[in-house]
Amino acid sequence: MSGRLTGQEARALLAAGDLITLGRAADEARRKRFPGDIVTFIIDRNINYTNVCVSGCKFCAFYRPAGHPEAYVLSHEAILEKVRETVAAGGTQIMLQGGLHPGLMLEYYTELLTKIKQQSDIIVHSFSPAEIIFLARQSVLKPAAVLARLQAAGLDSLPGGGAEILVDSVRQRVSPEKITAGDWLAVMRAAHGLGMKTTATMVIGLGESLADRVAHMEAVRRLQEETGGFRAFIMWSYQPGNTALGGEKTSAWDYLRTLAVARLYLDNFDHVQGSWVTQGERIGQLTLAFGADDLGSIMLEENVVRAAGTAYEMSVDKMTSLIRGAGRTPAQRDTAYKILKVYGEKR
Ligand code: SF4
Repeated sequence: MSGRLTGQEARALLAAGDLITLGRAADEARRKRFPGDIVTFIIDRNINYTNVCVSGCKFCAFYRPAGHPEAYVLSHEAILEKVRETVAAGGTQIMLQGGLHPGLMLEYYTELLTKIKQQSDIIVHSFSPAEIIFLARQSVLKPAAVLARLQAAGLDSLPGGGAEILVDSVRQRVSPEKITAGDWLAVMRAAHGLGMKTTATMVIGLGESLADRVAHMEAVRRLQEETGGFRAFIMWSYQPGNTALGGEKTSAWDYLRTLAVARLYLDNFDHVQGSWVTQGERIGQLTLAFGADDLGSIMLEENVVRAAGTAYEMSVDKMTSLIRGAGRTPAQRDTAYKILKVYGEKR
């Protein structure tokens, strides 16, 4: 391969590229960007502040309608306690993510952010474009204005949740009430415009075509070309347990092949994250030979994937030994991918 990969080439590689050759090429592309053997991870906590959601995505096992016996909203104090625990456990980031709760107004969020920042200087990497659009509609504000208010209150960066596949025909089928692909991209553009860095995600296995995957990658590659605001590309696979959509988990083969193509196609992204959360530890480890340079988070708490019946526990020890097992050197990073601690040889 020479020059920049075209959409057509990416599509052909997804369809028939030899897995091992693709892995080598993706690893080479990763090595050009990060010549050392460091593989990073972050210690953080997902705090799902509510499971009440009006979106009703068919692939989601987490949400509950308002009034359901299992519906909950966390109080500010409960969240602040979780933040304190995270800091005590060496965590540097929190991800607040919730359902689209019609009763929570912008002040719930701005007051919470202010309190979090008064309590500690933990990085708040939180809310997804779907939550921003929902808040904008509720407060009759533009998404950029909502982002600016959240930023002023303490929001540091925005995760790319809810991107799924950025093709509206797929979204119509799996989450008709959720934001459009254009909305997702518009929120990201607005965040980048405010100097807020974000990540781009993709979920495969939702019944999308290979052309849909390429269209998704093309959309984020273009926006990255325009703004440079994405820090990383993160690929998950759909977890079918307990969902209305049902279906099968995508294969490890498919995951690794798509990850390698993503590393090659997204030549303007620095970091590509492999998902041990949806793929399990062993496939997570293998992603390091398929273009990933980061294994995401230890995740002191995770409820969404767990609701779909997939639960893997991760600890610093397990993470560092997975990385060492791949012949690489583990390092803890922060949200901006700054290395905080390199873990030396295990005796
Ligand atoms: S994926 Fe998010 S927006 Fe969709 S139903 Fe679940 S919580 Fe709601």
